[in-house]
Amino acid sequence: MGKSFSLMIHGGAGAFEQVRSDEDAVRYHDSIRTILDEGRKILARAGSALAAVETCAKLLEDDPLFNAGVGSVLNEDGKVEMDAAIMDGTNLEAGAVAGVYDLANPIQLARLVMARKEHVMLTGEGAMRFADECDLARSPPGRLITEGRLQQLQRARGVDRLALDHDAVDAPDDEAGTVGAAAWDVNGNLAAATSTGGVVGKRRGRVGDTPIIGAGVFADNETCAASATGYGEDIMRAVLCKSIADFVQLRGLTAAPAVRAGIDYFERRVNGRGGVIVVDRHGNCASGFTTGKMIHGWIERGGPSKSRF
Ligand code: ASP
Repeated sequence: MGKSFSLMIHGGAGAFEQVRSDEDAVRYHDSIRTILDEGRKILARAGSALAAVETCAKLLEDDPLFNAGVGSVLNEDGKVEMDAAIMDGTNLEAGAVAGVYDLANPIQLARLVMARKEHVMLTGEGAMRFADECDLARSPPGRLITEGRLQQLQRARGVDRLALDHDAVDAPDDEAGTVGAAAWDVNGNLAAATSTGGVVGKRRGRVGDTPIIGAGVFADNETCAASATGYGEDIMRAVLCKSIADFVQLRGLTAAPAVRAGIDYFERRVNGRGGVIVVDRHGNCASGFTTGKMIHGWIERGGPSKSRF
């Protein structure tokens, strides 16, 4: 059997109530499949899992359909504050940024933090200073904000979502759209990346699970690569991605049963609302979620591109 590769990407968990027609659904599926194809090109020519997840996360950030990069949700001040992280399963190196703004691609900054090997996470002003040092172009003010996100914040304010935070909301439709990728390359290396604008109307300075290694992202060649989405407060408390990696390692499970065990734990222990994509060290792909839907797509061992809500 020739050397193969696998790739999974997601565009967030939630109710996706805004997807009311087949036409809306097609837009999501098209975007997911187009981006999977870009990842496939990298992996098929023996590119690294790390390159594939960075590229896929960047392309997802560039699509205003998703809550990352342009199209990020807005905080209580009507501003964009984004979090992102990337992890290399070959050596457990990781890079993360939190509370960054005016950047089209926070995942690139996370990758630069990782490459510098000095720190794992930078936040806010310090992260932005590092972005300037690395000559990452700043987006002009307001460029990341879409009309849809402005209306969404108004709606959230109308129902006092700030006070409710998460609890009174059945399904995190408005929070849907975080992006992530997990890949297994022809050399058997794993990597994962996650990027988000966070949750709508969040407090200024709030950091979710996305940049927390082990919570919103994790990759280890000994187990699996994983990216999570949903309520960051739930995901952090369950350390969801690392919990699933532990099920792989300690119980000797493949991706699908490990995801089932992880989602069961997530639901049982924190009443968790969210989902996860996982590629294990043999290239098996699996996903699980407790929300109504999670838009995601995958290529398992070089097979056809598939996408699903
Ligand atoms: N997990 C993200 C956060 O809490 C949001 C999401 O996945 O939609 O910041």
